[in-house]
Amino acid sequence: MKQITIAIDGYSSTGKSTVAKRLAKALNYIYVDTGAMYRAVTLYALDQNLITDEHLDVQGVVNAVEKLKLNFVLNLDTQQGEIHLNGANVEGKIRNLRVSRKVSKIAAIPEVRAKLVALQQKMGEDKGVVMDGRDIGTVVFPNAELKLFMTASAEKRANRRYKELLERGDKVSYDDVLKNVQERDHIDSTRKTSPLKKAADAIEFDNSDMGLDEQFERIHQFALRLINK
Ligand code: C5P
Repeated sequence: MKQITIAIDGYSSTGKSTVAKRLAKALNYIYVDTGAMYRAVTLYALDQNLITDEHLDVQGVVNAVEKLKLNFVLNLDTQQGEIHLNGANVEGKIRNLRVSRKVSKIAAIPEVRAKLVALQQKMGEDKGVVMDGRDIGTVVFPNAELKLFMTASAEKRANRRYKELLERGDKVSYDDVLKNVQERDHIDSTRKTSPLKKAADAIEFDNSDMGLDEQFERIHQFALRLINK
């Protein structure tokens, strides 16, 4: 079967990873969650005090990211890739508000992006990949055969993320989650290096009022049409 590259970009908490995982499974493709990579670097920067509420040591982060080892390891029980940082599984430590509040600042550093984009291009070099993020269709794989750009209202997105965090046992308020989603969208769309924007040839998907199954079915059909062309 023909292998293609599928790039899924969009705003925070638009359900990119849910649909990307399902698509990768249906097509027997690799799934790469690039947000997890930026989150893992952010976790490291927080733990090393390179970023606090008061300061950001850009040079310290740049030096650190050069030496960091980042890779995905398949969890055989869940059949999902999990992010490892310097050999340790950090999957359970990167999706909280502590990391979410700082990740967009770390992701705006050009040297951090250069390093992670190079890793992502390597992971997808053989095609047969579904990759989600903010700059996949514009920068990482500008020649991807299928590009999707996901949007939904900020309130719907914050509500989804809020429920997810509650289910994991995090004590958060809806207002804090909404604020974080809006703040990240703002920083991600206005940064100088590869800002979040829809690629000219991406298909836009507003899933504010679309169920998961319908969304998946439509995207799956797009992919199959391209694969069987
Ligand atoms: O996808 P997720 O919400 O986990 O991404 C976390 C953050 O990582 C985003 O808000 C953005 O700042 C950054 N990111 C990025 N480029 C990507 C993926 C994520 O800048 N390709």
